[in-house]
Amino acid sequence: MEEKNYQLDLLKAQNAQLSRSEHIYKLICESSDYGFIYQSLGGEELLTFGSFKSMFGMELHRLRDIEDLLDKFTEEDKKPVRDTLFPESTGRDYSTCECRSSNGHVWYRIVTRIVPDDSDPFSRDKIVSILNITREKAQHSDLLYMAYYDTTTGIYNRNYFVSLLTEFISRADESKCRVSLLMIDIDDFKKINDVQGIIVGDELLQQFGFWLKGRMIKDRIICSHINNDIFCVAIYDATGQYSVENFYNDLKKRLSDSFHMSTGQDITITASVGVAEYPDAGGSALDIINCADIVVYNCKKMGKNILQYFEAPILDDFLKNVDIENKLKEAVFHNNFMMYYQPMYHGRTRQLRGVEALVRWKDDSGKMIPPSVFIPIAEKNGLIDHIGTFVVEESIRQYRTWSDYYNMQFKLSINISALQYKKDDFVDSIMAVIDKYGVDPSDIELEITESILIDDFDSVTTKLTRLRNLGVGISLDDFGTGYSSLSYLKKFPIDTLKVDKSFIDTVLDDASTRIITESILNMSHAMGFETVAEGVENERQFSYLVNAGCDVIQGFYLGKPLPSEKVDELLSYMKK
Ligand code: C2E
Ligand code: MG
Ligand code: MG
Repeated sequence: MEEKNYQLDLLKAQNAQLSRSEHIYKLICESSDYGFIYQSLGGEELLTFGSFKSMFGMELHRLRDIEDLLDKFTEEDKKPVRDTLFPESTGRDYSTCECRSSNGHVWYRIVTRIVPDDSDPFSRDKIVSILNITREKAQHSDLLYMAYYDTTTGIYNRNYFVSLLTEFISRADESKCRVSLLMIDIDDFKKINDVQGIIVGDELLQQFGFWLKGRMIKDRIICSHINNDIFCVAIYDATGQYSVENFYNDLKKRLSDSFHMSTGQDITITASVGVAEYPDAGGSALDIINCADIVVYNCKKMGKNILQYFEAPILDDFLKNVDIENKLKEAVFHNNFMMYYQPMYHGRTRQLRGVEALVRWKDDSGKMIPPSVFIPIAEKNGLIDHIGTFVVEESIRQYRTWSDYYNMQFKLSINISALQYKKDDFVDSIMAVIDKYGVDPSDIELEITESILIDDFDSVTTKLTRLRNLGVGISLDDFGTGYSSLSYLKKFPIDTLKVDKSFIDTVLDDASTRIITESILNMSHAMGFETVAEGVENERQFSYLVNAGCDVIQGFYLGKPLPSEKVDELLSYMKK
């Protein structure tokens, strides 16, 4: 009896445990995102559970109901779905597919597994699990989009473009034809961004990218937004109607019209275009792109708004620049610069007016590299900051030593690059060095060029006025090579005007240069500027300029730029 009761209790407990685990399984299934179909293999009966009903709005009971389920998918996907639901028909235990709902909006992943039935070695079960993967698919297609397209403009991004260009190149290799690459750089885009704001800048890029998109022709012309304001176009076998010239003509026609922004502005742009071709410019996509980049850089130097083809000398020039750039970085690191000083004299009295500090760079091989070569490079890569700081510090230090030792009154002129002026602390940093060496600010003169006046009128005028109020003189260097007219200069706080050497070179032989030079000298005096002629190389030029009323003369005729010890000799000779 006791034994029977015990058996009964055990059965009850086992039953309770069974229904509990059934309950747990049910809970798990019902809360699952998966929809399930169960079929005992070979049987007709089907069971669905999990999210199946909410996914398809139906349940399956018999094998023939599968036909209703297939209607829930696109026509195209019906066959793969059927194959997936019945892997046993091809002798497999596992099958999977991804498929779309009949309206194409929802994506599913279906996985079918056939597993042995633990309780019956002769029977097997089939479990189909179905998951809604629409979100996963969307993320995937976003990622795919980002892998191929540029998000600002919707045309190919740089990486994908490079791989397509590589395909162009290998096709061209087989069919012995050329691939042309046009690199298009929008001129002065930075100005548009600065003045109109980056939203307008982006819209302009979008509109331009959209225009390029319309020029794409499958397997012939591809376009890409490389970065910022740079676009690339590759033309496969640029002959006949798909020539570089035709493309450039279309581009010019488009740019002759303005771009209309949603903010109301109409913006007109120009572009510099560098062309490099496979196989002439290089053997790989990146080689060709790099060559086109160098050509664009050259176009900018030549005044923008042009198209230029890659030629070997352009590369040579560029490599020379790169070499100088690398050496220049080292020179800055080792402080391999020194100052030379060129005297300036009052024309009538031939008395020393002052010296102009001119920086010199002796490279490791002992070669002197002229500032006209390295200053523009230093301005481009930012090294001018270090060089400028050295020039100001070293020349003012040297000037203090001379004025202590010789007790003579003369000026020190220092060339300042536009980039140095742009810095917010420019005035303070100059004044700090003047203070440090206890020099009278009115003995210091800064030489600026016209380009800085045009660049940033208000802030430059404010800085120059501050310097002048503190006593520092301002001299306008290379006058006549830039854009400003004399009447324009009235607005600027300038004390001295240096007539460019190019006028002095031809003033004796060319009547029109003579008229211009004389009127510059006359008008400068009328406006109260002191005048300096630079690059005076002989007695005839000297006498002519002095008679024409030029105040100060600088040039090889009276003295070349000298190292400091030679200036010492000059000063002690004058002291006698
Ligand atoms: P710049 O300021 O107009 O300097 C005058 C240039 O003309 C100097 O060339 C000088 O050596 C040269 N020169 C003077 N008299 C004669 C002459 O009679 N005949 C000939 N053929 N040349 C003469 P340099 O030293 O090669 O400087 C070239 C330019 O580099 C300077 O033109 C100036 O713009 C820039 N530069 C020089 N030193 C510095 C510097 O320390 N900082 C900055 N930012 N620029 C500098
Ligand atoms: Mg100068
Ligand atoms: Mg000059």
